[in-house]
Amino acid sequence: MKDIITIDGPSGAGKSTVSRLLAKRLGYQYLDTGALYRAVAWKIKKENANIEDEKSLRNILEKIDITFDEDGIMVDGTDVTSEIRSMGIGELSSKASAKPAVRERLFTIQREFGLKGKIVIEGRDAGTVIFPEAENKFYLDASPEERGMRRFKELKEKNSDIKLETTIDDIKKRDNRDSTRQASPLKRTQDMIYIDTTSLTLEEVVTKIMESLKTP
Ligand code: C5P
Repeated sequence: MKDIITIDGPSGAGKSTVSRLLAKRLGYQYLDTGALYRAVAWKIKKENANIEDEKSLRNILEKIDITFDEDGIMVDGTDVTSEIRSMGIGELSSKASAKPAVRERLFTIQREFGLKGKIVIEGRDAGTVIFPEAENKFYLDASPEERGMRRFKELKEKNSDIKLETTIDDIKKRDNRDSTRQASPLKRTQDMIYIDTTSLTLEEVVTKIMESLKTP
């Protein structure tokens, strides 16, 4: 499967920006799987549901209707594209993503979308669980301070009260949860090309990936 490119890594490693530009350059589709987890979290929050209550979680997952395209994402007909980017939804999505029922529900959506081919899929388990058979797998990383700073800049645009230390702490907490959970933890495997983006520009990262691609 050479026309599926997986990009995994922790929060703030640059996955979304890189994947979007890479997909554009290659004329591929782009799937931001984090947005799907955030969409589920949005619904959990809206319904005021308790994620520890298996029955209410299953009920939400059965009913939820998620649609998305290059420009945005809708939950049950409501455009949630910008609302899902808040720090609160980020935190809740990380908690919800540790639940196997949530991962199972989103697995099918991701597989079906990706099987259409020519796709850049970005997340935490894209190369390990969703498309383990992909031949072009990458792992993007950066120092926690750099990742915190990137997230801080993004969040600051919407919320001027936000603090850098809080953002770095939040990122570390989330990474720890994402890589130590039982269900599909964030993991770097031997078959992934590792890129540390700490001191690289967007253009440099995309060039590195394009140079490493195995083409048909
Ligand atoms: O990438 P983003 O920060 O938008 O993802 C939100 C959360 O969704 C992550 O912190 C992670 O817990 C979860 N996630 C996941 N698996 C993915 C993508 C995201 O568990 N493939």
